[in-house]
Amino acid sequence: MALTRRQFGIASLAAAGTLAAPAVLRTSAAFAQGGGPARNVILLISDGAGFHTWTAASFFQYGRARGQVYERFPVRTLMTTYPLNPSSEPTGDTVRQVSYDAGAAWDTTPMPGSFEGPVLGIDFGHKFAGYNYVRQNFTDSAAAGTALSAGQKTYNNAINWSNTDQPMRMIGERVKSTGRALGVVSSVQVTHATPASFMCHNRSRNDYVAMGQQILDTGLPDLVMGAGHPMFDDDGQYRRPADERAFRFVGGPEAYTKLVTGQTDYHFFDKKTEFEALANGSLELTRDKLYGLAPVASTLQYSRGVTDSWIPPATMGGFIPTTPSLVTMTEGALNWLGQKDDGFFLMVEGGAVDWACHGNLLGRMIEEQIDFDRSVQAVVDWVEANSSWDETLVIVTTDHGNGILYGPESDQFAFQPVVNRGAGNLPEVQWHFDHHTNELVPVWARGPGADLLQDFSTGEDTSTALVGWGEQPRYHDNTDIARAMEIVMNASG
Ligand SMILES: [Zn+2]
Repeated sequence: MALTRRQFGIASLAAAGTLAAPAVLRTSAAFAQGGGPARNVILLISDGAGFHTWTAASFFQYGRARGQVYERFPVRTLMTTYPLNPSSEPTGDTVRQVSYDAGAAWDTTPMPGSFEGPVLGIDFGHKFAGYNYVRQNFTDSAAAGTALSAGQKTYNNAINWSNTDQPMRMIGERVKSTGRALGVVSSVQVTHATPASFMCHNRSRNDYVAMGQQILDTGLPDLVMGAGHPMFDDDGQYRRPADERAFRFVGGPEAYTKLVTGQTDYHFFDKKTEFEALANGSLELTRDKLYGLAPVASTLQYSRGVTDSWIPPATMGGFIPTTPSLVTMTEGALNWLGQKDDGFFLMVEGGAVDWACHGNLLGRMIEEQIDFDRSVQAVVDWVEANSSWDETLVIVTTDHGNGILYGPESDQFAFQPVVNRGAGNLPEVQWHFDHHTNELVPVWARGPGADLLQDFSTGEDTSTALVGWGEQPRYHDNTDIARAMEIVMNASG
């Protein structure tokens, strides 16, 4: 069945100057439904997951690459993630200052000399020209989240905020204008850059207090779940907050008091048993919106054991028993959002994968990625039991690479892959950075409109065969995720 661009809402998007229309549109019968071809869209973001993050977790879990459920999705693409510019505040123009150059990214020319990582302060060495290239002009999670949500590139630090210093309309607002519900779930603080990008606007990602208040004032999200609880530490132990800063992720002390005393539109809950009750449908609700704050300070599990630094010990296991998993939160979100009459958009973030890469902590990175991967499995199970691939689009991706993770001799052999040591064993690796990268990242998609992402592609990078991505080397931009989601939900308004 051939459909015109107008039926996809593309014409109006193009007219608004937000969209370069794809050359080819493939479709399924479900596209004829009112309100857009997809009733529901679920976007899952493993924050800071470069190619070998996914591979290392699969080696550990399954003893082989590509063991995850999304590896069987029909659409696999690559994506550029660079920001509009590397500034940390608006520069006042719309000029794209940075880009991605595949030739430079895979340049194996040896480079001598030292290179100090900005986070760990250790010498990674220059090693190869390609390693050096991707260490520059990288996005932060705010500009990347904005690209995925608002469909526009901007400066680093911006939460749906333009380089000309204006708020930008984003997918959370567009979705709500269609009558669909909005859900945002993260394993890190509810107002950290990625979740904030689907609910808030701010000139700076660091203005947590304003964004925490914005959520309560606008009531935009129907469901919010994540960490950032002021009354618990990073081991999930109850604490007396040292100062007002402890309350910042939820909007400050007054906002927190309103939230927990029922003076907002949200039903507030913070016990693991309540997260589990939401997942099995037995949570009794006092409001028609939900705000679940996991009883832990910054992240569900990653930061346990932290002492005087933000980097926890490298040990695996010994999990905090009182916090819900990302899987439980995802199941709760789906169970509740799935009852909405007009469909929903849900963003689920595995937020601490990125933190583990900043810390070069392989074991904890794998733990976080496994919780994320199991959450994708929960989404797939939900679609197959309660919805269908004709009405729900699922997209799995990351916002940027982090850590330049390669094999154990990748200081001598450029781009040597991570080495599998079988299920249950950490693979052999070497880190070449402690921060984000300007690498391509993988995208997997299934459901109505998934193939739009292929149609958006503008180039190909055959060197991605080095990281196991040789069959589908074409890439599109991170802003195309937002465009595809707008189209399939007819949510351009
Ligand atoms: Zn990120």
